[in-house]
Amino acid sequence: MPKIQMTTPLVEMDGDEMTRVLWRMIKDRLILPYVDLKTEYYDLGLLHRNETKDQVTVDAANATKRLGVAVKCATITPNKQRMIEFPQLTEMWKSPNATIRAILDGTVFRSPIVIGCIKPVVKNWEKPITVARHAYGDVYKAVELVTDEPGECVLTFKGQSGAEKTLSVQKAKGPAVWQAMHNMESSIRSFAKSCFQYAIDTKQDLWFSTKDTISKVYDGQFKTIFEEEFEAYKDKFASLGIEYFYTLIDDAVARVIRSRGGFIWACKNYDGDVMSDMISTAFGSLAMMTSVLVAPDGTTEYEAAHGTVTKHYYNYLKGEKTSTNPIATIFAWTGALRKRGELDKLPDLAAFAGKLEKACFDTLMSGTMPKELAALADEGFKAAPAATEEFIDAIATRL
Ligand code: NAP
Ligand code: MG
Repeated sequence: MPKIQMTTPLVEMDGDEMTRVLWRMIKDRLILPYVDLKTEYYDLGLLHRNETKDQVTVDAANATKRLGVAVKCATITPNKQRMIEFPQLTEMWKSPNATIRAILDGTVFRSPIVIGCIKPVVKNWEKPITVARHAYGDVYKAVELVTDEPGECVLTFKGQSGAEKTLSVQKAKGPAVWQAMHNMESSIRSFAKSCFQYAIDTKQDLWFSTKDTISKVYDGQFKTIFEEEFEAYKDKFASLGIEYFYTLIDDAVARVIRSRGGFIWACKNYDGDVMSDMISTAFGSLAMMTSVLVAPDGTTEYEAAHGTVTKHYYNYLKGEKTSTNPIATIFAWTGALRKRGELDKLPDLAAFAGKLEKACFDTLMSGTMPKELAALADEGFKAAPAATEEFIDAIATRL
């Protein structure tokens, strides 16, 4: 059988631990036999990041800007414990995802992969709900203060021109806590553009919610910027039959719970942080969440939402059988291959992505599944858990 040809390479970012093991298996068993895979390869494994002083992450992000589509394996974000585990580390390198997101100025969209044999906790949810989280500012870049005597707190902005604006926050009669936060107009605009772009790419409605009844100026600014940016996407939305709608967050949570799913919910930073955890838990498994980073210009990076599955990796190193779920990592690959196929007008490549996804669904529905899904599956689909390699082999056989 002739292999499916590609014209433009994908940016391939390899990663760490168990997901790096999965990465190799997925490529060898599910992709390379069928696709004449063209990638620009960047090794974002922790030790290689360290050897390059993290330049490899920057290079990978810049390559993504140039080529438009990337697929990324999960990577270790070093913390104190990792500094002990890897004494050769010269620095506690920043999260690669944060570096890439900053360079691409992108927004992260998280969606569950929904399968028939695992019912969401909310029984009317039939299709995935995608949460888009604004990833800059608000409480995540706030300054905070505790005071222990009566007094007044003021908020002053000093313009470069010399102009000043001051507000009294509150006159406190006793001990108090204070917080000042901000956001940037440019960041909100990029967020809006990425959301509209991703709604078009995935042909789904876009909901956006804030608390602008209370935060009339701050949240009101988010609402206005979204309205302004929408002008440029309006016609495209109309031609695809999708809609953008703004609503108060209180109304949004009620509608989300009553919905059938199948839309994108854009949230401010804090709302997105909390709501994405709620949505993913209610859909079932962390191992079934995908994560897509979309830049305002449409540049896209696909990955699994979970981490490197460290515990499984240490069992794997001891030669024990693992049952690690590769589905989200496979869907990162299919997302990237489909996007490349669409951009380069290669219908065979896009169709292959669909076939690989179908092979995953069919394998799961036939009762072959990794351990954590076997525990969640409905009666009638319950099966003995498959080991990592057996499960990937079962998908390969279907494919
Ligand atoms: P994790 O890798 O997501 O794993 C946490 C637990 O969730 C696992 O121990 C496992 O539970 C379950 N799990 C996650 N993915 C699974 C899968 N595919 N199949 C089966 N079970 C799965 O999170 P972590 O252990 O907190 O973090 C490990 C490393 O990943 C850290 O160094 C962190 O920095 C990194 N990380 C990277 C990314 C990224 O690159 N995007 C994201 C998050 C974390 P059981 O052990 O109970 O089976
Ligand atoms: Mg969270």
